[in-house]
Amino acid sequence: MNSMPSSGTLLGHPKGLFLLFGTEMWERFSYYGMRAILVLYLISTVENGGFGWTTSEALGLYGTFTMAVYLTPVLGGWLADNVLGQRKSIIIGGLTMALGHFALGTPHQFIAGQEENLFYIGLVLLCIGNGLFKPNISTLVGDLYEEGDVRRDRAFTIFYMGINIGAFIAPLVIGYVGEKINWQLGFIFAGVGMILSVIMQLTMAQRYLGDLGREPSAMRTTSDGSAAKSQPLTAVERDRAKVILIMSVISIVFWTGYEQAGGLLNIYAKDFTDRNVMGFEMPASWLQSVSAFFVVMFAPIFAAMWTKLGSKEPSSPKKFAFGLIFLGVAFLFMVGATLVQGGDSSVKVSVMWLIFTYLFLVFGELCLSPIGLSLVSKLAPVKFLSLLMGAWFLCTAAANKIAGVIGGYIGEGSEQINNAFAIFSGLAISGFAAGIIVFLFSGKLVDWMHGAEGKERVEHDPRDHDVV
Ligand code: GLN
Repeated sequence: MNSMPSSGTLLGHPKGLFLLFGTEMWERFSYYGMRAILVLYLISTVENGGFGWTTSEALGLYGTFTMAVYLTPVLGGWLADNVLGQRKSIIIGGLTMALGHFALGTPHQFIAGQEENLFYIGLVLLCIGNGLFKPNISTLVGDLYEEGDVRRDRAFTIFYMGINIGAFIAPLVIGYVGEKINWQLGFIFAGVGMILSVIMQLTMAQRYLGDLGREPSAMRTTSDGSAAKSQPLTAVERDRAKVILIMSVISIVFWTGYEQAGGLLNIYAKDFTDRNVMGFEMPASWLQSVSAFFVVMFAPIFAAMWTKLGSKEPSSPKKFAFGLIFLGVAFLFMVGATLVQGGDSSVKVSVMWLIFTYLFLVFGELCLSPIGLSLVSKLAPVKFLSLLMGAWFLCTAAANKIAGVIGGYIGEGSEQINNAFAIFSGLAISGFAAGIIVFLFSGKLVDWMHGAEGKERVEHDPRDHDVV
């Protein structure tokens, strides 16, 4: 294990947690800001500075891009584990993403005829950069804590707030600049956010993180003095890696529902929801900030709740099960909304249906997403630490793609209400079914964690020495 930095604590956590919080907040600000204007930019006419694509072309690219951005963390994780270490990966990844944003932000008049080429280069840079940045900033959070430290889930919940403060502000700032001033300036703002994130790391990491994440994890020396890389996995480590992979695959069910937010739920907000508030019709896209707002609001409550529960705190698999059940409840609200419409696409339902859907999606997210990051960091064999974090994000990539395909079944015209009813019911049922299954198997999954959490937490599991 890396040496722990000795810069003291803040609110009961190592100060390094708050540096990682700030670094990730600015990175997510840049990512979600860019994402908020990407489709709008593509469909905007050439005279208005866009590319004049059709909506379906733009949504097609959006789906592929949001998948691709989460495919690369496996490679970035491997590189960090074996060659670069997390700290260098974060800096290189951050600078690469900044270049990507600036490529998107280059005014068209400077690159006449090459606009689309530079645009694609920008997207590729974002994918490469995110691959190097995202898994490694997440595993560094876990590295701040020793094995068995109960503060870990709470630390990831705090870190998750940083993610969502960035995600909440970004569409408001970059969306405004992009839509009202010009698209390129919006992307440049995103690039500047990314640079701020890198500057925070460059100037403060030594002080608050010490040597954490400098050495590739596979080179770290274990208790017997040899490099982690040269040691075969023990039976315990294999079981723990198995738990990570199972939970990652289960997370696909959750993210497939959750990621309807940007697509199907967005369309539902636009076409079938009464968005009038005191005579003002709010833009459908505003509802995209609701989830991030709820996360920032409820994350401290969830963190406090886990603390308060003390020894009764549910295991990670049980939290996952609750997360999936919340997903089911969330989509029951959408089922309700379509029932109110009663097959008549001219009926506009109250915006509260969507608000409650987002609220329960966020309850689910808080039981599953920070807990998943924490789980990977506590269970991964040291030499595969960031690689397995990459595998967790790989499942997000798959879910983004599946979400787009499922959302696409909404179809066109008068069929949309019946189709939406079927999709929402299917998502609700899959949430409840997956939740019940995970709940039933949670005991077995906790066994496979071999004391990393749960009642039988032990210092050293005797099976740890069974080399396989
Ligand atoms: N919203 C979170 C983030 O951007 C979760 C992403 C995910 O794993 N789907 O980090």
